Amino acid sequence: KRVNFNDFFNRIIDRFEMNKNDKISFERSFPKRSIYVWIDEDKMTQVLDNIISNAIKYSPEGGTVRFSAHSTRKQLKVSISDEGIGMPPDTVDKIFDRFYRVDKSRTRDMGGTGLGLAIAREMIDAHHGKIWAESKEGEGTTVLFTLPLMNQNRGDHS
Ligand code: ATP
Ligand code: MG
Repeated sequence: KRVNFNDFFNRIIDRFEMNKNDKISFERSFPKRSIYVWIDEDKMTQVLDNIISNAIKYSPEGGTVRFSAHSTRKQLKVSISDEGIGMPPDTVDKIFDRFYRVDKSRTRDMGGTGLGLAIAREMIDAHHGKIWAESKEGEGTTVLFTLPLMNQNRGDHS
């Protein structure tokens, strides 16, 4: 389905904003111009739900979760960053593996199976995008993904 990504992303963030506690703040950085993408809304909702719940789960009190969505000529780039515990450099790629969880001792109270990001990667792959993470231990984590933009001029997908 052809979707205005800003509207779609805002609705998902709104849902988390209504349910979050006051100790975590949200910041959004979106361009004014609409960005249209060709996505499966249910699958993309699952991707964003996973990434956003991780960001909240690993955020400290007083932390800010930042959301951005920007497009270049060829792709949409989405990022969700937190000021949480972060992770060691050699684990940022492994978190997309099935059942992988960083340091089970620190996350044992957090619940979860370690499947969320593996599923997210499958879904982003299916959308011909890329997903990765950047992180610094003790400073925070940013999860980013790209989606190819449809060529609006040729109307390939409309
Ligand atoms: P599930 O999503 O299945 O409920 P999960 O959240 O543990 O469980 P993933 O979402 O796949 O699984 O994440 C894998 C691991 O990556 C997490 O267990 C955690 O160790 C690490 N991780 C993911 N996101 C963050 C983050 N924002 N900050 C710090 N660590 C993270
Ligand atoms: Mg998760």
